[in-house]
Amino acid sequence: MHTFEFLRPADPATAVATAAQAKTAQQGADVRFVAGGTTLLDLMKLNVETPARLLDINRLPLDKIEATPDGGLKIGATVRNSDLAHHASVERDYAVLSQALLSGATAQLRNMATTAGNLLQRTRCMYFRDTAMPCNKREPGSGCPAITGSNRTLAVLGTSEHCIATNPSDMCVAMAALEATIHVQGAKGARAIPIGDFHLLPGDTPNRETVLEPGDLITHVTLPPPVAGSKQAYLKLRDRASYEFALASAAVVITIAGGNVARARIALGGVGTKPWRSPEAEAVLDGQPANEANFRKAAEAALRDAKPQSENAFKIELAKRCLTHALQLAATA
Ligand SMILES: Cc1cc2nc3c(=O)[nH]c(=O)nc-3n(C[C@H](O)[C@H](O)[C@H](O)COP(=O)(O)OP(=O)(O)OC[C@H]3O[C@@H](n4cnc5c(N)ncnc54)[C@H](O)[C@@H]3O)c2cc1C
Ligand code: SF4
Repeated sequence: MHTFEFLRPADPATAVATAAQAKTAQQGADVRFVAGGTTLLDLMKLNVETPARLLDINRLPLDKIEATPDGGLKIGATVRNSDLAHHASVERDYAVLSQALLSGATAQLRNMATTAGNLLQRTRCMYFRDTAMPCNKREPGSGCPAITGSNRTLAVLGTSEHCIATNPSDMCVAMAALEATIHVQGAKGARAIPIGDFHLLPGDTPNRETVLEPGDLITHVTLPPPVAGSKQAYLKLRDRASYEFALASAAVVITIAGGNVARARIALGGVGTKPWRSPEAEAVLDGQPANEANFRKAAEAALRDAKPQSENAFKIELAKRCLTHALQLAATA
């Protein structure tokens, strides 16, 4: 049985210094922070994660939601998904985020799951979670059985010949459309990472999922000030109505002036190897009439580079319809 040391660092600096002793912050890390535990403890029970030290960060002062001086929002790393979804500012100004959070998991899980933990949740690819199987993400160089095996729920955008796993988060898709920034305190100081640069494409190192280095503690996430008059929607399509991950989802933040789209921010979930912002769809809509024909054109652009696997070609049309409908929902909100 796997044994580990359980520590409760007294402050963020101690947490960072202890975690900085790890060999990696990626797959196989020997030191891990634990927040809600809803991803990490599952993976430890499956022996996919075997850290020697767990650093419980729940007592650190990272649990506040506060307005920023510029009119945006600062969300602490250990803010629970349920508290974030029901916060008055989020419901009013960042509805797409509230909707995305509430579409994820179950009420009990959302009460435990945290902002930082959600950013770092792992793929649900069945081979990744089964140590009897090879998997390049878990054991680099061992192979990717999903490419010739069970891949119905896996990605069609951003894949490589080494990994086709989907990023499963709903929250991250909304944060991508809201252009969130991730704030990290590390061994060399603090830094701010735009969410689009935070997750990595699998390429030939699918074991490396984010830009985090040993010691890096996510302290908070910031959202820019809400865009006046923006309309927002998160639409998630899945095999059953709750307690299920997205087959395709879309987060939309648009502003319409005089019947035309003045500004659009669009991201897709369930189809990409990372939360998938679509500048292609945004460019198609820019300045164009806000109607169904243009929404469909934007969806076609978003999926233009999609590459189907043996079982998941259906996701391409599903994602197009999901985005088209999400845009309609937002436009009529
Ligand atoms: C049955 C089930 C169904 C689910 N359904 C959905 C769904 O439909 N949609 C969805 O989006 N999600 C879903 N989830 C995933 C859920 O959202 C995540 O498990 C959760 O958000 C992870 O947060 P946590 O605080 O529990 O993370 P933890 O398990 O505590 O941590 C996860 C990872 O983040 C690291 N970490 C945590 N905090 C920090 C920090 N501050 N700095 C650096 N590293 C940190 C940990 O070391 C670990 O590697 C589901 C989970 C389960 C178990
Ligand atoms: S898709 Fe990625 S996570 Fe799944 S088996 Fe292949 S390498 Fe592993």
